[in-house]
Amino acid sequence: MAARHCPNCGAVMPAGKVAADSYELVCANCQHLLGISELSRNLAAFAGLAAGAITWWMVTLRFATEPGALGWVWPAFLAYLATSAVAALTLMFAATLELRADDLTPQHENVTHRIPH
Ligand SMILES: [Zn+2]
Repeated sequence: MAARHCPNCGAVMPAGKVAADSYELVCANCQHLLGISELSRNLAAFAGLAAGAITWWMVTLRFATEPGALGWVWPAFLAYLATSAVAALTLMFAATLELRADDLTPQHENVTHRIPH
């Protein structure tokens, strides 16, 4: 299944909605409750951590020659930003959606009349 596609009807979820409302996703086409697969969540988390580690290493090298009282802040701050941004972006572009176990909507029921215009 391609990234951000509803497994029931195939509609594509907006990337911003997948990242912002990842625990409360509802397909706009068929109204099924959707969740992000564990593989996608783990992939996004590890990509973010890798980006954070690389950023920490690069910024530490950059500020190693400049002594200062707050020199330790920049590696931590920038690694945090890199981790957050890369994890969210990875989720936006590579999230695989699945139907949630607590979804009570019948399978393959088209309820497109519920969509406001
Ligand atoms: Zn759907």
